[in-house]
Amino acid sequence: MITLALSKGRILDDALPLLAAAGVTLQDDPEKSRKLILATNRADLRVVLVRASDVPTYVQHGGADLGVAGLDVLLEHGAEADASGAGAGNTGLYRPLDLRIARCRMSVATREDFDYASAVRQGSRIRVATKYTQTARQHFAAKGVHVDIIKLYGSMELAPLTGLADAIVDLVSTGGTLKANRLVEVERIMDISARLVVNAAALKVKREPLRALIDGFEQAVLAAEAKA
Ligand code: ATP
Ligand code: MG
Repeated sequence: MITLALSKGRILDDALPLLAAAGVTLQDDPEKSRKLILATNRADLRVVLVRASDVPTYVQHGGADLGVAGLDVLLEHGAEADASGAGAGNTGLYRPLDLRIARCRMSVATREDFDYASAVRQGSRIRVATKYTQTARQHFAAKGVHVDIIKLYGSMELAPLTGLADAIVDLVSTGGTLKANRLVEVERIMDISARLVVNAAALKVKREPLRALIDGFEQAVLAAEAKA
C-alpha cells in the first residue's frame, strides 16, 4: 500500500487534476466526506488528509510514503529540523518534483507609510511578524538586516496595522489581501510552489510503485504546462 499525504484547500484543489491526469481518482468527495483516509481507484494507493504544515512530518516519519507540500512549508520544516540538530537539511525527505501548482511568492510587506528601504539602509532594527520565522530569519541574516522576529499563526496583515510589527513576511498571490489592508509589498523573497516529497526509506522499499507514481506526476505536470 502506498500512502499519499495531501492537505485540504489549495493543495488538494490543485493536486486532484494532476492525480486525475496520472490516472488516480478519489472514491469519496473530500469536500463532503469527513474521512481522513480516502480510498482511490487504485487498490494499492490511498490518500491521507493532514494539515498543510504537517505534510513533511508525515512523510519524514513514514506516516505517508509521499506527499505534496508548499516550498514555504518545506523550508520551515527543514530549518526546524536543522535547528533541532538533525543535521543540514537531513530530514529524510527526497524532493523529486516541482509540481508547479499552488503558486505564489514569499514577500516582505509593510504599511504604505513605512520607509523600508531607508530602515534597511540605516541598519535600524526592524520588527517582523511572520508564520515563517526560519525563512524570514535566514533572509534578513543574508542581507545583514537586524530583525526581531515575532511568530504569528495567521492574519499577519494585522501586525503592521496595530503596531505589533514594522513588517510582515507572508505569502502573496494576487496582492489583493495586502491591498485591502493598505499594505505594500516592498521585497520579494522567493517564488513558491508545491513540491512532491517522498520518504527516502520508502523509495528504497517500494521503489517500483513509487517510481511509477512519481513518473505519473511528472508526465501530468508536463502536460499541464503544455496546456497553459
Ligand atoms: P492551515 O490552513 O492548515 O493553517 P495553510 O494556511 O498553510 O495551513 P493553505 O492556506 O491551504 O494552508 O495553503 C497551503 C499552501 O498553499 C501554502 O503552504 C502555500 O504553499 C500555498 N499557497 C499558494 N498561494 C497561497 C496564498 N496566497 N496564501 C497562502 N498559501 C498559498
Ligand atoms: Mg490557510
